[in-house]
Amino acid sequence: MNIALVAHDSRKQELIEWVRFNAATLAKHKLYATGTTGRLIRAAFEELASEGDNSDRSKTECRALYGAASQNVNCLLSGPLGGDQQIGAMIAEGVIDVLIFFCDNLIVQGHQNDVSALTRLASLYNIAFATNRTTADMILTSPLMDDADYRRVIPGCISNYAKRKL
Ligand code: PGA
Repeated sequence: MNIALVAHDSRKQELIEWVRFNAATLAKHKLYATGTTGRLIRAAFEELASEGDNSDRSKTECRALYGAASQNVNCLLSGPLGGDQQIGAMIAEGVIDVLIFFCDNLIVQGHQNDVSALTRLASLYNIAFATNRTTADMILTSPLMDDADYRRVIPGCISNYAKRKL
């Protein structure tokens, strides 16, 4: 699956903790992230590659697994500089399957319009979408994440709107 990850500054640490906890699972997927979030995710994978992950995986296995995972993080522009909109466009193009977006719920962002646009498209295109850790856990542990036959339904309102009579 293609998973997009975004965290506002006040929630970056929370997202990185979640990424570290779920690193082996996330390593099976292709990751996209806004610029700063993506750099922190890469650094977390690199740390796991060099220090191991406290599981029964050997150091060599960790080096291979997380070394590859860090290369598999596609860093887009920083969110406020267009990164949110890049992810929104990828959702509309059908590239992104899952959005994990830890947004700051206590302050209005300078790029609040972009935040609203991104969450609107995630909802419109019926992608799996988490704004908190519990929902992110539930998405990542869903058996559907590994089901090659699962096809997301594209809501009929989209084609109805595209074909509307004017
Ligand atoms: P950032 O962007 O990862 O580049 O900090 C996050 C955001 O959308 O605010």
